[in-house]
Amino acid sequence: MTIQVLPERVIAQIAAGEVVERPASVVKELIENALDAGASVIRVEIDGGGKRLIRVSDNGAGIHSDEAALAVARHATSKLRSVADLEHIETLGFRGEALASIAAVSHMTLTTRHRDAAAGVRLRVEGGDLLRKQTIGAPAGTVVSVENLFFNTPARLKFLKADNTEKRQVTSVITRYAMAYPGVQFVLLQDGVEIFHSSGSGRLADVLVKVFGLDSFKHMLEVNSQGEGEHQVYGYSSTPELHRADRSRITLFVNGRSIQDASLTFAVVQAYHTLLMTGRYPLAVLMLRVPPPDVDVNVHPTKAEVRFRDPNAVFAAVQRAVRRAVVEAAQVTTMRQMVDVVTIRRPAQLDLELDMTDSGQYQRQQRPALIPRGGDIDDESTAIPVGPAAPARPRTLPMLRVLGQISAAYIVAEGPAGMYLVDQHAAHERILYEQFMDNHERQGLIAQYALTAQTIQLAPLEARLLEEHLDSLTHFGFALEAFGPNTFAVRSVPALLADKDPTEILRALLQDLEAGKQPGQRTIEEKIILRVCKQAAVKAGQILSLDEMQGLIRALERCRSPLTCPHGRPTLLHMSSDHLAREFGRLG
Ligand code: ADP
Ligand code: MG
Repeated sequence: MTIQVLPERVIAQIAAGEVVERPASVVKELIENALDAGASVIRVEIDGGGKRLIRVSDNGAGIHSDEAALAVARHATSKLRSVADLEHIETLGFRGEALASIAAVSHMTLTTRHRDAAAGVRLRVEGGDLLRKQTIGAPAGTVVSVENLFFNTPARLKFLKADNTEKRQVTSVITRYAMAYPGVQFVLLQDGVEIFHSSGSGRLADVLVKVFGLDSFKHMLEVNSQGEGEHQVYGYSSTPELHRADRSRITLFVNGRSIQDASLTFAVVQAYHTLLMTGRYPLAVLMLRVPPPDVDVNVHPTKAEVRFRDPNAVFAAVQRAVRRAVVEAAQVTTMRQMVDVVTIRRPAQLDLELDMTDSGQYQRQQRPALIPRGGDIDDESTAIPVGPAAPARPRTLPMLRVLGQISAAYIVAEGPAGMYLVDQHAAHERILYEQFMDNHERQGLIAQYALTAQTIQLAPLEARLLEEHLDSLTHFGFALEAFGPNTFAVRSVPALLADKDPTEILRALLQDLEAGKQPGQRTIEEKIILRVCKQAAVKAGQILSLDEMQGLIRALERCRSPLTCPHGRPTLLHMSSDHLAREFGRLG
């Protein structure tokens, strides 16, 4: 091919690809424009995950009629005049590319009236071509409607995820801006249903309650660098009791701009050093104020990354501010724990056997004494297998004789080859896991229905995540019904979990699902099964009767893979008779 300058239309589409990756990026750009225009109310509506329609309305300054056509032209901006201006950018936009890029790959309608003008204007742009411009009456402010996104770039369209995934991304963008701008009221409607609404009260705490839910917010600590140094840090970070399996809930803003920065995220995690287990991460929402000349925001087309003049100083400021909040709070909790120690915990009683005929909520039946059950091993239940009846499966461990329990966590047993220490929780998890898989293969799932369904209220992002995985959850026996934008009625749970608190189970499950964003993680199905077995299994700290211990060991002896729990941790330690003899100096 000969070298040729690309036609303007092709250039525009390539440029569009950098800015507009998916519906959420359109929403982000339109929100930024509304914020730059000084809006105090921003309303976002999306239909069909944003592919059919994205509409962002604001009550900001609006655009003068004679400038409206320029607004959708490439490299046209009211926010920047010279390269020197880049040094002290105070607006979110400055590249003059967003509206043009979005217009190039959609059917866009821009309706706007400048607050000083008598009449407004409406433009219709399709695939970058300005088709119509009319004068109309309109309230002051701007409404941008984007229909049929990527209609002319099928490759891009093909790469979009399912509607629910796109919805979740959009929710995430809106909640992030709502946190960064607590003084602005944000409203989000998806397919006509309002799923998020911030008050615009100006208090970050009010927004966080809406985003994370009150339960989580109760475990958030205020972080405030209190005027120390040039780099101000303000926001909230979780107490060490509230944590996640990944870093996705660490949200950072620099001068009102949501950014991704692995190093600053690490600074937050570092602040919890020794306070959190490895592999667990805090939740945090932190606003950094950095003098504009000290930060370069023009390094990435979507402005998601920034460069600091002195990255180490920013790192230190974040780490110090968070650490101080966490350590101060930790001192208070230690005191509290010391008081708690004197109240002796009653040993948890085992919840046994489900009564499938009982009515009411999830049937909860506690029996004071253990009644040996017959050979009905196909009946899934949380009960630890009890009694003489052995599962009709080949033996994979030698026959073990139970001697007792130590630390309410381990079963001591004797076998032909020495001593065995069995982790009761890990072993029970293994047993349930294999039972679950067998039953699932053989007869589909066994769900436990509730006559009066419990409802669970989730934070908007959690609700989107749940919706996204609703099919898989249903497949394993969780019947959940939307009961409002972020509320679900729990109609059934897997029978294994019938006596557990559905809210607790679902919250734990959501964390597992959320953690699965990285490649190489377990499949959704696996996660659900593992979580179900984990929740159902007997916990460490539970005192077991001899019958229960025997039942558990009997079942473990016939597991296909008795030596590890489904997460891969050992279920038992074996100490051979030879080893014991050697330890006691009986063998040479
Ligand atoms: P940028 O935000 O980088 O300037 P955009 O393409 O996003 O580029 O917008 C182009 C221009 O259109 C802006 O500079 C602004 O003057 C005007 N504009 C866009 N959206 C709005 C809005 N919601 N309210 C007022 N003016 C707007
Ligand atoms: Mg913009």
